Amino acid sequence: MNPNGCVAGLIGEIDTYSHRGVPIADIYSKEKRSEVMSKIRGKETKPEILVRKFLFSKGFRYRINDKRYPGKPDIVLPKYHTIIFIHGCFWHGHENCKAAKLPETNTDFWKKKLSDNIVRDRKNIEKLRDDGWNVIIIWLCEIKNKNVREKRMERLISEITDGK
Ligand SMILES: [Zn+2]
Repeated sequence: MNPNGCVAGLIGEIDTYSHRGVPIADIYSKEKRSEVMSKIRGKETKPEILVRKFLFSKGFRYRINDKRYPGKPDIVLPKYHTIIFIHGCFWHGHENCKAAKLPETNTDFWKKKLSDNIVRDRKNIEKLRDDGWNVIIIWLCEIKNKNVREKRMERLISEITDGK
């Protein structure tokens, strides 16, 4: 018998067993599930979570996505009477921002849609300020990159504490 063939056969057998084993298949599906979940999280809420974590680490306590207020603010800090919106540059029309550039096709459609968003945001912010809230907008481009984010977060603290 060829000894190499023997070894190869053994490896093949182990591989086959590990792929066929039911418990292993379960573990795999759990991993897969959490991978999918982390991808969803990463895409939709990661920057928001970074801001929250930062605030929490500095001792701030807050409510999130509070539906009672106009615009359903991302973060509400009742103690400081402060509301924070984390705005995507494109959807909320960040002025002079590369990430807010209009698409080259259907430009009129996008222009209308985005200007509606901007008008709605403006109304919400105005209403909140009229009610005495300190409203802070954080743009996604300000928190995407680590260095830029650190500077923004530093500024955020003084915006919260000076604005109350
Ligand atoms: Zn931006």
